[in-house]
Amino acid sequence: MRLVVLTGAGISAESGVPTFRDAGGLWEGHRVEDVATPEAFARDPDTVQRFYDARRRAAVLAEPNPAHDALARLEGELGDDLLVVTQNVDDLHERAGSRRVVHMHGDLFTALCNACGARKPIAGELIDRPPCPECGERMLRPDVVWFGEMPYELDLIEETLFTCDTFAAIGTSGAVYPAAGFVMTAAEAGAHTVELNLAASDITPLFDEVRHGAASLVVPEWVDEVLAAHA
Ligand SMILES: [Zn+2]
Repeated sequence: MRLVVLTGAGISAESGVPTFRDAGGLWEGHRVEDVATPEAFARDPDTVQRFYDARRRAAVLAEPNPAHDALARLEGELGDDLLVVTQNVDDLHERAGSRRVVHMHGDLFTALCNACGARKPIAGELIDRPPCPECGERMLRPDVVWFGEMPYELDLIEETLFTCDTFAAIGTSGAVYPAAGFVMTAAEAGAHTVELNLAASDITPLFDEVRHGAASLVVPEWVDEVLAAHA
């Protein structure tokens, strides 16, 4: 049995990571879209750096919840047959114990160097313009995928979707492509598809099975069932 699990903002929201959509999509009066594009960074880098520095501080204070714990337990049983693909830029999956995690939208805790392309762990805040550990230039940006940029690891994700038996989407709105299309790729490849979400999403009708409820409740239940069927 091979499983691909896609996770989105809904799984982190219960850990206290703000989704911004819920707050009207505003941050200090800026539309989130306006601090999450390459154009915004070129125009006003300090505002963009402060936005991500603040998100990183908030993520440090958050704790994994039972949904993250359940997925780590699933990996403990399935090993390499489970891949978690997350749209989240926090590290809650890793802190719960998951190791096979692909951050398709990047990672708050690494910086991307605009001079040499290195992706390195961040110490401190990017607003202070620390030098790149690789080349020494002070041209680090948040290592997050902005609107209009290509997500990471799409080849690996697509290849895994083509060979999985089950695809589950947890806490995703279904509004952001290409992730919203993963269910169709998995279904075409013959996988059973499951949506676990607080409420119906834009793409709910595309799934074979739908479970609505808080991730911290429905994910552990689903993991228990998967493991019981696998035993
Ligand atoms: Zn560099």
